[in-house]
Amino acid sequence: MVKDVQKKKLAILGSTGSIGTQTLDVCAYHGIEVCALSARQNSALLEEQARKFHVKYCALSDKKSAEDLKISLADTDTQVFCGNGGILEMIEACGANTVINSIIGTDGLLPTLKSIECGKNIALANKETLVTAGELVMKRVKEKGVTLMPVDSEHCAIFQCLMNGKREEVSRLILTASGGPFFGMDSEKLKNVTVEQALSHPTWKMGKKITIDSATLMNKCFEMIEAAYLFSFEPQKIDVVLHRESVVHSLVEYVDGALIAQMSLPDMRMCIQYAITYPKREKGIVRKTNLADIGRLTFYKPDYESFPSLSLAPYALERAGVIPAVLNGANDEAVSLFLDGKISFTDITKLVQNTVYSFENIKNPTLEDILCAQKEAKNRVLRAAGG
Ligand code: MG
Repeated sequence: MVKDVQKKKLAILGSTGSIGTQTLDVCAYHGIEVCALSARQNSALLEEQARKFHVKYCALSDKKSAEDLKISLADTDTQVFCGNGGILEMIEACGANTVINSIIGTDGLLPTLKSIECGKNIALANKETLVTAGELVMKRVKEKGVTLMPVDSEHCAIFQCLMNGKREEVSRLILTASGGPFFGMDSEKLKNVTVEQALSHPTWKMGKKITIDSATLMNKCFEMIEAAYLFSFEPQKIDVVLHRESVVHSLVEYVDGALIAQMSLPDMRMCIQYAITYPKREKGIVRKTNLADIGRLTFYKPDYESFPSLSLAPYALERAGVIPAVLNGANDEAVSLFLDGKISFTDITKLVQNTVYSFENIKNPTLEDILCAQKEAKNRVLRAAGG
């Protein structure tokens, strides 16, 4: 018998990254058809994936790498698209019914919008999509009647916890945060942390950008914004608790005080699979969780003084307009400056704060307003850093 999950036809954007490769694990396990793959420049791994899954459409945003891939796949009937525009063309051409978007950073927005426009369901691992243009994206999702499933572990958890009551019975969405590698450090010590230290996350193995965002807790700030748009709750109802073990993936508190949590060993493949199989659940590749083996679960209040990025979420959500996009653009630039050794760790959040607090907002922005504001935010960070 063909399982429902095997009727899916997936396009995986960002297939050579951490979420992308884990999505392919899930596809291999369930025998799910993969019809399209995209990446930035890793043509060697993309070739290997395309051959293994008999993928008909591939795209690379780096033009030189796309040329390489065309040559190496010349003996197949796989069509290779080139450049960021090529990724959009591929989404339209490939015939997928579900698009997994695990592109890193700001480049993920246009592919999400294109997928919605083409009537495809989306499993979204690119949080910048909702941080940058949450209002616009959710409006288009509604108009087109497509499903947008979160792949982020916290949002996947909240999605599941929200099934336990009515919307009006919810009093808080509580996102858990591991606290990153600098949990318990004060701002004085944080000034001197190195790129290498910031890149070693205690629980999750991820790309560089998101690992730095986890260390500054900017990732949690983004996730608060993501949650507000995804589930349509006001910023006052979105809270954060530090939880070192990453077993409780997030919680929903109801008006009677009941807390509903979703727990499991940290493994993104569970979220990826759920986003694909929903509304069903299927047996998965993920190891079952033995709570007695884990023994203790600990929770702490977040330290807003050492990690001021958390306060930027309610600030940006209350103002809306282009401010969330400015926040994202400023952070993008500040993180690259830090990774290049040009600014200190604590400068990341400082530069972002200064840019966000001084930016003149545009209410009800168009996509162009959003992209312009984001670009301008990047420039301002560069100038402020003396670059
Ligand atoms: Mg997360």
